[in-house]
Amino acid sequence: MHALSIWQRGTEVNAVAAEALKQGADCLDAVEAALRFSEDDVRDSSTGRGGLPNAAGQVELDAAIMFGPTAEAGAVGGLRRTSQAISVARRVMEETPHMLLVGEGAETFARQQGFDESDLLTDDSAAKWQEWRRGRGGADPERHDTMATLAIDGRGQIAGGVTTSGTPFKLPGRVGDSAIIGAGLYVDQGVGAAAATGVGEEAIRVSASFLVVELMRSGLSPDAACRRALERLLSSHPASAERQLALAALRADGAAGGGSVKPGFAYAYFDGGHNRLVQVGSVLD
Ligand code: ASP
Repeated sequence: MHALSIWQRGTEVNAVAAEALKQGADCLDAVEAALRFSEDDVRDSSTGRGGLPNAAGQVELDAAIMFGPTAEAGAVGGLRRTSQAISVARRVMEETPHMLLVGEGAETFARQQGFDESDLLTDDSAAKWQEWRRGRGGADPERHDTMATLAIDGRGQIAGGVTTSGTPFKLPGRVGDSAIIGAGLYVDQGVGAAAATGVGEEAIRVSASFLVVELMRSGLSPDAACRRALERLLSSHPASAERQLALAALRADGAAGGGSVKPGFAYAYFDGGHNRLVQVGSVLD
């Protein structure tokens, strides 16, 4: 049993996944429970209710989930009014023949599936948006904290999920990497899983998560695969050195790794016994 969740606050999220796995949950349930924990936490300004809104003051969520044994996946983009984006993504995977629902269609689907609707903007996120509108900041442009969890259960099945309110104050309708299978998330039962965070456009540019999995398939370690994928991005698009992109990977045998363009990235790693935070250095150093 292994689990990986990204960023420093991933430690708490990963503990939820670890606990679920220890109780015998399968990898999909562990991933969903961990990411729901993040989405339900209104203090968290990057997922679910309390996530920072788009330029028009509306919270639009992106999420995806993928199951290794069947290569099934589901995703939502620009989902409004339902905070449990990861669970809606799972329903897309399980209840429809499709892989990605966006905008109004995603909202209607969530409603039909019985998800509660509410205003996802909190007093705090509304105040940050107002500050941004007045040109007084509101959020650190370097702030990236999409939440992702990758998990291997007691049967060796691997799954991953990712959930975010996306780049703060993005244009309405902008969908980022977290809704795009291959960019923000990819899982292959025989090889492993990978997820991305940072400027979503950079992850989409190189199909970052798919690339990491394919590099692991060719024999690279999770650390080396994340690094190589970032080097590939920087060589094809040097201007990407100015923007954060961070990647994390969990190999099918439980080994974990990560890489980032800029410093400050970390991931929490549960190795079956302990849950600890691993700091990741910049590829530019
Ligand atoms: N990757 C996310 C996006 O571009 C944002 C983030 O990780 O901060 O929507």
